[in-house]
Amino acid sequence: MKNLHQIVISLFVVGIVIGLACSFSGASTISAAPAAAQPAPNFQPLEMRLINDPRPIRLPPPADFNPRRRAPSAANIVVNYLLAGQKLWSGTPSEVTCLTFPDQAKTAFNYAAQLAGSRFNSAVTTTIDACWGALPTGVLGRGGAADYKLSGIHFTGGVPDTWYADALANALAASDLDPANPEIQNAYGNTIDWYFGTDGNPGTQTDFVSVALHEIIHGMGFLPSFSYSSGTGSWGMGTIFPMPYDRFVYNGSGQFLLTSYANPSFALGDQLVGDNLFFRGTNATAANGGGTNYPKLYAPTTWSGGSSISHLDYVPFSATELMVYAIAPGQSKHNIGNVSIGVMKDIGWTTPAPPGTNYLYLPLILR
Ligand SMILES: [Zn+2]
Repeated sequence: MKNLHQIVISLFVVGIVIGLACSFSGASTISAAPAAAQPAPNFQPLEMRLINDPRPIRLPPPADFNPRRRAPSAANIVVNYLLAGQKLWSGTPSEVTCLTFPDQAKTAFNYAAQLAGSRFNSAVTTTIDACWGALPTGVLGRGGAADYKLSGIHFTGGVPDTWYADALANALAASDLDPANPEIQNAYGNTIDWYFGTDGNPGTQTDFVSVALHEIIHGMGFLPSFSYSSGTGSWGMGTIFPMPYDRFVYNGSGQFLLTSYANPSFALGDQLVGDNLFFRGTNATAANGGGTNYPKLYAPTTWSGGSSISHLDYVPFSATELMVYAIAPGQSKHNIGNVSIGVMKDIGWTTPAPPGTNYLYLPLILR
């Protein structure tokens, strides 16, 4: 396997070449960014896991949510249910071979997609490829962006030199930057004792709407690029560019991970498994009490692929926030949570105004 350090150095050179080319000839070269600048295709999607937690946690949907209406500015999210035999993350360690997506699950998933879309603005329809298939024991769902776009190269908007998840890149650009492909990829475990109702009362079962909502939010950009392997920490998915989420990750001493540690390095790896990382975004922090109450991230002392860094810490956020790494049977979270909404705003999403008479009413038939 090619040494990651070599890849990073070679991509650094490529990045300089791109930068020079763009500075010499302006926007005309922007669409000619070489494939080598793309993130590693096997970047791991994120997961939600099953946990034992007897607390009867219930987060009802926002009071203004109605599955048949949304603000005119809100995101329209549609779902493409993959057929039996199709594959997701093909050729990577996360590959899933899809089975037939159950009709009951489709109803619940559509509800979750409406709920997610109602919270964020986008003029561009977001498409999710959704797969039903075998996931490892304890994994409920797996989700991520289908691809990433580099601001300043692939689109104008956001923070330059940053990899944006497709759905967010489209929203910032107000244009579908890759109309031939979906923006989000999700898979759900076929052996879970799921509850497919949308009323948030799963009994002893695992609430599918909650897990679907969680994975959709990951796909919309609630994800870092930090990775860990054999003690080495890295970011940028094999490139020199971070994701917007990465730009808010600090340790408890106030060190900014992107500039305080070499990429890749053992020292960065130690930070990723140090249980001492925080998200210093303005909106997320304000939702957590403001001041220096930076929300703590999930960074257990043993790296957990698909879970570490990409979630708020289970303590203290499991009772109030959807974006923690696990959920227990009997619990339901149909509200993303204020801190998680804050994270989404910090990375670049905007949110619709409170409901008013200008709300659009959607067709009565939900597929
Ligand atoms: Zn997750």
